[in-house]
Amino acid sequence: MRFALPAEGGCQCGEIRYRLIGEPVWLAVCHCNECKRQSGGAFGMSLRMHEADVQLISGEPKRWTRAADSGNLVICCFCGTCGNRLWHEPAGSGFLHIKPGTLDDPSQLAPRYEGWTKRKVRWLTIDGLEASFEEQSPSRRSTSAC
Ligand SMILES: [Zn+2]
Ligand SMILES: [Zn+2]
Repeated sequence: MRFALPAEGGCQCGEIRYRLIGEPVWLAVCHCNECKRQSGGAFGMSLRMHEADVQLISGEPKRWTRAADSGNLVICCFCGTCGNRLWHEPAGSGFLHIKPGTLDDPSQLAPRYEGWTKRKVRWLTIDGLEASFEEQSPSRRSTSAC
């Protein structure tokens, strides 16, 4: 999937704006319970970007750090005014995981794989995936996105 760049996004209230200037590494769906709680929906999504390919245009996100199941720390960035989660920073990874629903135009997004299908809601089927994993996918284990 080619991604039209640059792509901009931001939080619901507009205080925080960002710009993506490089090709995303991948887009994944996660069905784990943490992602459900974080997104407030049936699953979470992560758009993996090289840190250097994400520019902050305006605002200063607030940060909250949590330990993933793996023990790795994930820094969760959100707007302090509207509370919208914007991206996660798996500590020390050099990558940011953008919450892709915050893009101004999320229509070009198509996930490549899904993780934690053993927690997936029964009514959901996603077409066009390259791979599904019962738990955390192998390529994400080292950086624990959620
Ligand atoms: Zn906001
Ligand atoms: Zn997850």
